[in-house]
Amino acid sequence: MSNEIAVNWQQDRAFAPSPEFVANANANDPDIYTRANADPQAWWESWAEQLDWIQKWDTVLEWNAPHSKWFVGGKLNVSANCVDRHALGVRRDKRAIVWEGEPGDQRILTFGELHTEVQKFANVLKGLGVEKGERVVLYMPMIPEAAIAMLACTRIGAVHSIVFGGFSAESLKERTNDCGAKVILTADGYWRRGNIVPLKATTDEAVEGCPTVEKVVVLNRLGDKISITMQEGRDIWWGDLVAQASAECTPEPMDSEDPLFILYTSGSTGKPKGILHTTSGYLTGTMATSKLVFDLQEDDLYWCSADVGWVTGHSYVVYGPLANGATIFMYEGSPDWGTEGKGGARDRFWEMIERHKITILYTAPTLIRACMKWGEEHPNSHDLSSLRLLGSVGEPINPEAWLWYHENIGKGRCPIVDTWWQTETGAIMITPLPGIVTTKPGSATRPFPGIQADIVDEKGNSLPDGQKGILVIRQPWPSMLRTLWGNDERYQQVYWSKFEGIYFPGDGAVRDADGNFWLLGRVDDIMLVAGHNISTMEMESTLVEHPAVAEAAVIGKAHDVKGQAPVAFVIIREHLAPAPGDTAGAQKLRDELKKWVGEKLGAICRPDDVILSADLPKTRSGKIMRRLLRDVAEGRVLGDTTTLADPVVVASLKEKYSSEEN
Ligand code: ATP
Ligand code: MG
Repeated sequence: MSNEIAVNWQQDRAFAPSPEFVANANANDPDIYTRANADPQAWWESWAEQLDWIQKWDTVLEWNAPHSKWFVGGKLNVSANCVDRHALGVRRDKRAIVWEGEPGDQRILTFGELHTEVQKFANVLKGLGVEKGERVVLYMPMIPEAAIAMLACTRIGAVHSIVFGGFSAESLKERTNDCGAKVILTADGYWRRGNIVPLKATTDEAVEGCPTVEKVVVLNRLGDKISITMQEGRDIWWGDLVAQASAECTPEPMDSEDPLFILYTSGSTGKPKGILHTTSGYLTGTMATSKLVFDLQEDDLYWCSADVGWVTGHSYVVYGPLANGATIFMYEGSPDWGTEGKGGARDRFWEMIERHKITILYTAPTLIRACMKWGEEHPNSHDLSSLRLLGSVGEPINPEAWLWYHENIGKGRCPIVDTWWQTETGAIMITPLPGIVTTKPGSATRPFPGIQADIVDEKGNSLPDGQKGILVIRQPWPSMLRTLWGNDERYQQVYWSKFEGIYFPGDGAVRDADGNFWLLGRVDDIMLVAGHNISTMEMESTLVEHPAVAEAAVIGKAHDVKGQAPVAFVIIREHLAPAPGDTAGAQKLRDELKKWVGEKLGAICRPDDVILSADLPKTRSGKIMRRLLRDVAEGRVLGDTTTLADPVVVASLKEKYSSEEN
């Protein structure tokens, strides 16, 4: 990509870890990078050695690009590594899961209790005729049984495919049919913002069109709050099955490369892809990254707020932390719902952190920006002194949002790990190691030890520091996807055809003189305005720097003269938003924002249109769907909207666009 324009963030703002943090950190020797990168296979092998193996591997890596096999010849079981070795050792009475429901109900499971529950449910699955290699769909709330069911699948070698509990019947049907599941695990429903989400009713609708599904297991979450119908012969109560199940189930010896799970991507850029992960490489990668990136210590209460329906919930709610014997916190509901059930409680996260004394929080920029919009008073009314480390994942975090997180949540004390990775990569790829790396707001900093990331031009040539380009990963890594389920051709085409033998994640990036990576958003979203490459991230971060702006999404709209013209959709912080009907105030603010961007990034970047919006179209995992904004701006019929969180948002934006276009 030529014709650089300057990245306008203050790249000199830097935060070194405190001496106290460094002293106790799991990784505090910068040499770790040199050692790992000198011999990545030996590095990964040193992590695999920390797992419990039934049979050790013969070969670390077989690489026939683009197909990799790791720890070939080895046998192990994931549930034995995440549960048994802790339950049968000193962590038997240690808390494994601390859970809170949206209405405030709570449960705690020790490793010993989790061990029993996982074995019972593994026997339930066996009793339903589920065999090694067969697929089980989970369509579940964020409750301990979701983790129990995942681990139970791994215990018997069944391949789980989790469908986020907020998805529609159509999405559930599509994913269930794509992976050919035999059993669906669900619940009657769950709580979300004080409302009931009727999972069972949605499952009934989906299963009509799912010929492979034989049984539906239904957990009783809501009791008499909901009435559901059970279909004779197909639907069975979870509790009834567990009550009859034996509490002993020997873990199935799984081959290193046996499939572990299938997970469909978020669908930000198009139709979701069925990512396949396998056993030992995935577990090695998630265990190593959890330990070093989150600096997990024996007495931590670690909270990753992602739903188990996303990869973050797989790798960093369940597998990575539990492989390390850490205590995980899980929460069922919405961040703006109070325990009193009165609604509008925008301090729920901070209230729970204070009450449970949570020490590590890993969340998404979308949540941080929502909190910025709501105002500082919510976190400020709680004691957050238990926190010692913060994380971010899912989208680039704007420097301004990073600083807000650092000051208002971390109180200037907690290192922030901005972690770049994907469903496909299985584990974190670019991230600070909090006891070593000096962080810069907006940069994910350095490739994890053993990961060979680079930035290249369209032809695949490495670019010098400071030049914007395409992020690539040059060498295979243990937790990489193995293929797309049932579609190896698409696997090769999507990830390996742009540059032969080199992994193409689809994101843009630039590296600074200190070797830090700055993610610039999707390659497809980079605009070409009058011959200049402008990333959505640069423009959005500049808008968020304006005191009135909480969140921004920028897209390039086709333009006769410039090729593309930038269009900005912005959300204003609540206390600074023009009153409804104040058209003059809104116009003034729009003009001011255009001028702001023009002054900060150059006239070329000045947006043609600024739309003040109450909300932005997002995936159900909270990512901005810029392709739909492009459709809105260019007056097209909307593309695939099945992963959209709230269809009303785009509909109202379409209306607003024609009235505010200027
Ligand atoms: P699809 O591939 O179906 O369009 P998706 O890419 O949103 O969906 P995920 O695998 O959930 O699906 O998301 C991975 C993407 O999220 C990355 O490719 C990147 O664009 C973005 N991302 C995740 N974490 C970060 C981060 N820390 N910084 C910048 N971008 C991030
Ligand atoms: Mg993707």
